[in-house]
Amino acid sequence: MTFASLELIDPLLRMLATVGYTEPTPVQQLAIPAILQGRDVLAAAQTGTGKTAGFAIPLLQRLATEGERAAPGMVRCLVLTPTRELAEQVFESFRSYGRNIPMRAFVAYGGVPIEPQIAKLRKGLDVLVATPGRLLDLMGQGEVQFDQLQAVVLDEADRMLDLGFANDLEQILLALPDDRQTLLFSATFPQVIRDLAQVLLNDPVTIQA
Ligand code: AMP
Repeated sequence: MTFASLELIDPLLRMLATVGYTEPTPVQQLAIPAILQGRDVLAAAQTGTGKTAGFAIPLLQRLATEGERAAPGMVRCLVLTPTRELAEQVFESFRSYGRNIPMRAFVAYGGVPIEPQIAKLRKGLDVLVATPGRLLDLMGQGEVQFDQLQAVVLDEADRMLDLGFANDLEQILLALPDDRQTLLFSATFPQVIRDLAQVLLNDPVTIQA
């Protein structure tokens, strides 16, 4: 299978040629078409499977081809990660994969000053990658608006629950519009994740890679 057969737009195909990815990984072969169609996704995927490109590339395509650019204070696509290290990695992936697409991306996590993050958010973001605690702080200060939100990704959802973020996640998810796309990626599927998927996902495409 080729990336071109997945109906990706030219800026993304050019990016893939530049980074040297010739063939989609199994998780990408399944996730990319489902996400492009706007479906919710429940994916069992470990690090190393290409899962990040599996959600970032189709989300970038949807951001480029659907909806308005982000208005001040708005976030169009939210990615939640358990740790700042993963947040940085996912953010760098969006930057790299989105190199040929005009979009504003940013990463926000705790342990660093909040003011520069607020300044960035006020401009409006197409993609915000964040850890749950800092995002809630920013929301509590009224600095993030989700009226334009198209999609939310829970990356490494099992680790987020292991790290005690269940309540934070619940508060965040309650603040998002109902008509959004939801993607849940997890390495393992304990009962708590299956329960979360049950309440969160709307007729999801299930992917095992
Ligand atoms: P991830 O599972 O998202 O942590 O990605 C694992 C690694 O695979 C990253 O270093 C990516 O750059 C690389 N990668 C992702 N998709 C592909 C692909 N289709 N072909 C080659 N390498 C890839």
